[in-house]
Amino acid sequence: MKYAIVIPDGAADEPQESLGGKTPLQAAHTPAMDEIARLGVVGRSNNVPPSLPAGSDVACLSLLGYNPLEHFTGRAPLEAAAQGIELGPEDWAIRCNLVTIENQTMRDFTAGHISSEEARQLLATAQERIGSDELQFYPGVSYRNLLIYRGAKKPAPFSRDTRATPPHDLTDKSVVDDYPRGPGSDLLTRLMEQSAELFANHPVNAARRKGKMPASNIWLWGLGRAPRLTAFQQLYGVQGTMITAVDLLRGLAALVGWKRIEVPGATGYIDTDYAAKGRFAIKALPHTDLICVHVEATDEASHQGDTAAKIQALEEIDQHIVAPLHEALKKHGDYRILVSPDHPTPIRLKTHNHGAVPITIAGAGIQADAATTYDEVAAGKSSLSFEDGWRLMGYFLGKAISR
Ligand SMILES: [Zn+2]
Repeated sequence: MKYAIVIPDGAADEPQESLGGKTPLQAAHTPAMDEIARLGVVGRSNNVPPSLPAGSDVACLSLLGYNPLEHFTGRAPLEAAAQGIELGPEDWAIRCNLVTIENQTMRDFTAGHISSEEARQLLATAQERIGSDELQFYPGVSYRNLLIYRGAKKPAPFSRDTRATPPHDLTDKSVVDDYPRGPGSDLLTRLMEQSAELFANHPVNAARRKGKMPASNIWLWGLGRAPRLTAFQQLYGVQGTMITAVDLLRGLAALVGWKRIEVPGATGYIDTDYAAKGRFAIKALPHTDLICVHVEATDEASHQGDTAAKIQALEEIDQHIVAPLHEALKKHGDYRILVSPDHPTPIRLKTHNHGAVPITIAGAGIQADAATTYDEVAAGKSSLSFEDGWRLMGYFLGKAISR
């Protein structure tokens, strides 16, 4: 049996006035996803418990079949795993965005999608001036960087009660009331303020101000210790492989013991090479039980509030990933295929939200329901619903586990 999962990140949305009351999934031309709905079932899944932040970290942990209430420790530890950064039991990983804040307003949580090389230079300055043996800055990809607190000698001041707001939740809003709160928050806030002074006249920003968003400072959030997860194969008896351009998903894959495939041209952005992702997924099929293709573009389009870009991303995913992958699966004998976003990212909000996402599953042993399309409205009519989204994996694999 072969399994395939396609995750159009943040694809779930609301009816849009500009689309005549249709959701982006309804408006997009997605014959391959609709075929899965026609051959199989549609339903709903809720990947983010109300008590946890609505983000890809919690949602994807859930989508991969792990109860986030039991296992979620924060986003940054997952990204540290992706980069191969070892975390000791006393260490904390902290997400270190490069952002553009002007007049205390979050203009851009990506600092204009700053290049990795520029980010590396800014983080080198931060390490030199405000880093230490305890505080280590690790450059990642573009605006997505990490700060690691090494707590072996001097225990970290943070706890599970430390709160820090994701910068993508603050787009175009005042940041004044959203600095970190709780244990250790004064340290985080101080570092963010110090970075603003360090970056103000930094050569990287002097160059960027000629037409690009400067990286005004670091924004620290998503902190946590390393989670300890039982290997997916041990839990579900299936070997998984992940294709993604996003560190968070790479980290999740690493922590659950999945293989990872890097696809050239996969950018984690709306200009990603969809067809390459589809080709690599098909190439991986003979060598894995389960292939998972994650695409960030739909989420990015939502963050930008760009309905047309979201629809285009959905159509590209449908044509270049879902369609060829489903065709390839049919040649492999028994298979099951699942399409599921991790969480809704409504264009109206420009950020992630709690709530159910539409799912569709087809393949061996799945009795077709009445659905003919894959979208929020069709899913809303289904009786198939996973209030605890992490249980979907057991259903999909036909291997329910108790925890
Ligand atoms: Zn997401």
